[in-house]
Amino acid sequence: MKIHEYQAKDLFRAYDVPVPDGNVAFSVDEAKKNAATLRGFPVVVKAQIHAGGRGKGGGVKLAASMEEVETLANDILGMTLVTHQTGPQGRCVKKLLIEAGQNIAKEFYLSLLVDRATASIVIMASRDGGMDIEEVAAKTPERIIKVQVDPLMGIQGYQLRQVGFALELPGAAMKPFSQLLSNLYRLFIANDCSMVEINPLILTSDDKVIALDAKVDFDSNALYRHKELMELRDLDEEDPLEVEASKYNLNYINLDGNVGNIVNGAGLAMATMDIIKNAGATPANFMDVGGGASAEQVENALRIILADEKVKAILINIFGGILRCDIFAQGIVEAARKTGINVPVVVRMEGTNVDEGKKILKDAGLNLTSAVDLFDAAQKIAATVK
Ligand code: GDP
Ligand code: MN
Repeated sequence: MKIHEYQAKDLFRAYDVPVPDGNVAFSVDEAKKNAATLRGFPVVVKAQIHAGGRGKGGGVKLAASMEEVETLANDILGMTLVTHQTGPQGRCVKKLLIEAGQNIAKEFYLSLLVDRATASIVIMASRDGGMDIEEVAAKTPERIIKVQVDPLMGIQGYQLRQVGFALELPGAAMKPFSQLLSNLYRLFIANDCSMVEINPLILTSDDKVIALDAKVDFDSNALYRHKELMELRDLDEEDPLEVEASKYNLNYINLDGNVGNIVNGAGLAMATMDIIKNAGATPANFMDVGGGASAEQVENALRIILADEKVKAILINIFGGILRCDIFAQGIVEAARKTGINVPVVVRMEGTNVDEGKKILKDAGLNLTSAVDLFDAAQKIAATVK
């Protein structure tokens, strides 16, 4: 689960990770009020959306006076901000962070993330921080250093220094930086984060280190341990269909193709996406109704997929195990009765009670194409959308 920069900065404050003074604002008036509490100008007006690249998209601006705060807040609130992370449709800005402007001597990159391959937490840092870290990673990866932290040992003093030296920090900034990194690590572990990123981490002209940006991603599987973090969720920033699917415990991810998929089991869903791609079609979504879905869940899955305008055809691929084919078929029939199915559907069904399942679909008189196996299903769906 992602959170906004202003929320991440509140968390940073709670762990003594230095951030600029600032406050969230939901209106132009509030933006001006917040600016008045800061010590002088410039004041930074920052769009709050769950995507990076805001600076380049025009969502981060410096105001030299109260009039400029007003103009900028007016411009940015309500704008559709397009960045390389939002996709071409962009994201509507509904809140701003109003912050005290900082004197930047140097911008660095610093992040912590879970590295599954080495079962460790990796610290990544670079002297080439700022807005183009993706380019640094692609063109000069040697300029990003990586330090692995054993989660059982915790972060060690020599590792803090190792990162500080790699960033070539001035002596006076070394100790504050070590404290910052060690606090950031503590925050990461205590909140079950999957990623924490500061880009840029800045060095000021008086050798202070400050997190100028803050991105935090929590491991959603651990959120049940952190009720207080769950309250930070912003449904406005999530795909409405994904939010709807999560209400029914459906594993649904919206993609950009045009074949809707209903599959039971994540492995089968991955295989299904591969095989339809191989046949020349592209998936509009990943929808895993789960191994033990009920007829009601199947019905909701179909309804959600049908609500997606990109979907030109649906492939249903079910292996009946705990979810029996007859239960599944009932769900499809119910959904078809309630919402109607207005696109071609190809069904491949195998496993427990497959004959009963096929009979239910046939007796309902639904206009479905059945496939003998997965390969056949993929060919048929590809032919339909071509
Ligand atoms: P992002 O583009 O979404 O990653 O947003 P950031 O929070 O990283 O802001 C983008 C850029 O705005 C930073 O890299 C800085 O160069 C600039 N910026 C942000 N805050 C300040 C500030 O207080 N003073 C100055 N001079 N520049 C700032
Ligand atoms: Mn940034």
